[in-house]
Amino acid sequence: MIDQELPESPETAATPQPVLRCGFVAIVGRPNVGKSTLLNALLDRKVSIVSPKPQTTRHRILGIRSSEESQIIFVDTPGLHAGGKRAMNRHMNRAAVMSLNDADVNLLVIEGPRWLDEDQRILDQLVARGRPIILAVNKVDKITPRERLLPFIEELARKAQFVEIIPMSGLKRSNIESLPGLIAKHLPLSPPHFPLDQVTDRSPQFQASEIVREKLTLRLHQELPYGLTVEIERFAEEDGRLLINAVIWVERAGQKAIVIGHGGEQLKEVGRSARIEMSELFGRSVHLELWVKVKENWSDSEAALRQLGYES
Ligand code: GDP
Ligand code: MG
Repeated sequence: MIDQELPESPETAATPQPVLRCGFVAIVGRPNVGKSTLLNALLDRKVSIVSPKPQTTRHRILGIRSSEESQIIFVDTPGLHAGGKRAMNRHMNRAAVMSLNDADVNLLVIEGPRWLDEDQRILDQLVARGRPIILAVNKVDKITPRERLLPFIEELARKAQFVEIIPMSGLKRSNIESLPGLIAKHLPLSPPHFPLDQVTDRSPQFQASEIVREKLTLRLHQELPYGLTVEIERFAEEDGRLLINAVIWVERAGQKAIVIGHGGEQLKEVGRSARIEMSELFGRSVHLELWVKVKENWSDSEAALRQLGYES
């Protein structure tokens, strides 16, 4: 996917491509530190779903930011995490590690003012790859008193040769403006890899399925979000409206009842909020139908994962 080639057409051959600072930036860090929130803030558009629950991001998602000087291809990754033996966990770790291998620059995100063993393990992996590392100390809006920040940053500076350490808040969009410029300095010169108006590599169908999964993840408690996935069965345009049918796959009959909720209320609310967000994203009205179906242990079956679109 990362090696996606632009179609050769007579026009593209005739017009020389501009040469920009252009490359891949892996956004890495342990689950829940705010990687997807930061990506969305940098792109000024939601390309990656967000929730307070760890392991919300399951796929490698590209978010592309182009300007006259640079094309930065951010790679949002599932958090690298230890443990978890199911096929789904293996898939997520694979996606995260592959992004590290491809990256020209690594953006390591941590949640200040804490440095955990898990942060150290990820830093060790990055240092071993030898690419420039920018350290984003995120969620500084939560740090009180603010005086704790400076000594923490001094302590971080001793952990590795970071090209930059930037305190920021992705949620509040504070102190993120300088980031693209700092990153671009470390990217190779090359023609753009993607058309300049493209913001993500993901299809509208994928984005629709992720929006439904985000709304479910936000409403459901405990472990249930990890046992479900969303498949788009129909995505059609009719009279200027989008008709979208989605199946919510769960692993057990009991989970189906929880997703649907008392009198169908839960599913109705999920559908309502997903539909509103899809209408905004796609810029037209959306008719959304949701079904809940059971496929036992899909998250531990490589075959089921492939069938549901979790590429390896
Ligand atoms: P990821 O797992 O690293 O991708 O983290 P997410 O982007 O999904 O965010 C996890 C949670 O942290 C969500 O509830 C976000 O709203 C919250 N969050 C992200 N960035 C910030 C931030 O800068 N400040 C605060 N206070 N919360 C944040
Ligand atoms: Mg994420």
